[in-house]
Amino acid sequence: MGSSRIAIRTAIVTATAVAASATLTFLTRTVLDQPLDWLGWIEVFVVPVLIAAPVAWHIFANRARLEAALVGLEEAHRALKQSHARLAHAASHDRLTGVLNREGFTTEMTRRLLESDGGVLLIIDVDRFKAINDTYGHATGDRALQAVAGALRSAAGLHETVGRIGGEEFAIFLAGIGAEAARAAAERVRHAVAATPLPLDGRGQRTVTVSVGGAAVEGRSASLDAAFRTADRCLYRAKNRGRNRVEFGRVPRLAA
Ligand code: GH3
Ligand code: MG
Ligand code: MG
Repeated sequence: MGSSRIAIRTAIVTATAVAASATLTFLTRTVLDQPLDWLGWIEVFVVPVLIAAPVAWHIFANRARLEAALVGLEEAHRALKQSHARLAHAASHDRLTGVLNREGFTTEMTRRLLESDGGVLLIIDVDRFKAINDTYGHATGDRALQAVAGALRSAAGLHETVGRIGGEEFAIFLAGIGAEAARAAAERVRHAVAATPLPLDGRGQRTVTVSVGGAAVEGRSASLDAAFRTADRCLYRAKNRGRNRVEFGRVPRLAA
């Protein structure tokens, strides 16, 4: 509220006080049959002005200050909420590729496992990635990892959980999916990466391949650790069997 609005409101309150004072005095004096002299009439008008005007001004000015403070508080609250969302995103996502980081991935996978009663974990490791760094440098290696993450994201689909769980190691969790569909998805992922040209800044053309270890998680009773152990074991097998391939395993259920 600006000072002109405070002044208008103060004037209204003061005028009301003066009118009330004059009416009351006029009525009582008429009933008592005691006419007022000129000094009395001045008091009737001046006293309410002296009392009502400063009090009304004080109240309206304070109210304006409180309203301004409330607006400031709401803005601060909005800014805090935004920065909290930004921090939460930064804490759970990988800065380089934009997919979930290891913590973000395991949190999301745990949540989706509980929701969907099972699914398939894929661990995807880029084959011979060290050679990319050695040949083109680390910065190009970084851009290659971004390209791989992009390929994984589009191959997995919008609603699937994709994360970077290590240097050149990624993971995808496909919730509520059967063994056949999981194999098809893993092959789709493998082909998608192999078909993605790496951004090499005009220094030739090159692609990378990935090896995939898959673990079928049967329901809520399987532990996350067991799923990662199984997928890791399968990934190791895929590497040993020549790379650029998919190997699958089943996660044992926890004893009840
Ligand atoms: P393998 O087929 O056995 O997986 O071979 P590899 O070369 O991919 O595996 P290795 O573990 O020997 O090398 C992984 C390489 O990934 C080494 C490391 O420099 C690179 N790397 C890890 N994180 C990053 C990163 O953030 N940026 C870049 N540019 N390179 C990374
Ligand atoms: Mg590798
Ligand atoms: Mg690796």
